[in-house]
Amino acid sequence: MTEVKWQDYLLRAQAFHGHLCSGQILGIRMGLAGLRLLNLTPGEKHRDLVLFIETDRCMADAIHIVTGITFGRRQIKWRDFGKAAVTFLDLASDRAFRVASRSEPRPAHDEKDLTAFWSRYTDEEILIIHEVIVELKLEDRPGRPLRRVPCSICGEDVLDGREVEVNGHYLCRACAGEAYYRIK
Ligand SMILES: [Zn+2]
Ligand SMILES: [Zn+2]
Repeated sequence: MTEVKWQDYLLRAQAFHGHLCSGQILGIRMGLAGLRLLNLTPGEKHRDLVLFIETDRCMADAIHIVTGITFGRRQIKWRDFGKAAVTFLDLASDRAFRVASRSEPRPAHDEKDLTAFWSRYTDEEILIIHEVIVELKLEDRPGRPLRRVPCSICGEDVLDGREVEVNGHYLCRACAGEAYYRIK
């Protein structure tokens, strides 16, 4: 990682996210580590890369900036574990690495220079890295939808096998009782 590249990603992440925080710095370090482990080059298009992101906080924005991966191409899987961790799965090689942030070190709340703080540590000192096995089902992969079924109750289409069969009828998950909203 050259200094120029690191700074470039940090500026872009800061602009996209809205502020400079440890999450941006760690997210960039984790993203670059994940790409490096899979022999992928930062800045290129990674069509076969799928990310399992275990947080919906700051870091997730930096991961997007450094990998170029977006939610809308089915290459981000959000796992609501509340953890500063991302698994990088390369569908081309079928290899995957989970990269997590260590609990320590952490800067003081009034730390003035976060960039300098994190620069004092190597990746090994701040990250936990494991090669892992991830089974990604066919209906969860990028590409055209495998299946499209209208819900018997609301009539809205349900893609990729997310429908639920109830008494011989296909329902969307909301109509099957999992709705997070109520119509006013
Ligand atoms: Zn932040
Ligand atoms: Zn429905």
